[in-house]
Amino acid sequence: MLEKYLLFMRRAIELSLECVKRGGGPFGAVIAKNGKIVSESCNQVTILNDPTAHAEISAIREAARKLNTFDLSGCEIYASCEPCPMCFGAIYWARIDRVFFASTRSDAENIGFDDSFIYEEISRPVRERSIEFKQLLRGEALEAFRAWEEAEDKVKY
Ligand SMILES: [Zn+2]
Repeated sequence: MLEKYLLFMRRAIELSLECVKRGGGPFGAVIAKNGKIVSESCNQVTILNDPTAHAEISAIREAARKLNTFDLSGCEIYASCEPCPMCFGAIYWARIDRVFFASTRSDAENIGFDDSFIYEEISRPVRERSIEFKQLLRGEALEAFRAWEEAEDKVKY
């Protein structure tokens, strides 16, 4: 089984290299289930003009589409670099079982991809964040929450 882990990670790394050649960021990701690749992707932020098109996010979207479920339990993700806070959250929301990564956050920081400030922002009080967060219309928004609570045919996730 160890060979499979290495094989999948080498594929993620290979994707990260291919991506640089295509004008994307140097990040690749592979999602596998039961020893088989379900999806693979690389960073396409600059190619698609999509700031959320990180390798892991795109691989999660494709895996969910292919497996026809929002619950990726039983899957593993192989990321060529330690996931950023956005992808970290997405991995938890997707309920992926295990995360393998090759290079680290500080390796990425060394070449200009610094996501440590986002980790810091999360723990900061709302008023001290570098992007302004303002609360409006809480009462009106809660209507949807009430509707959700009362709905009997909802798909829980
Ligand atoms: Zn990310």
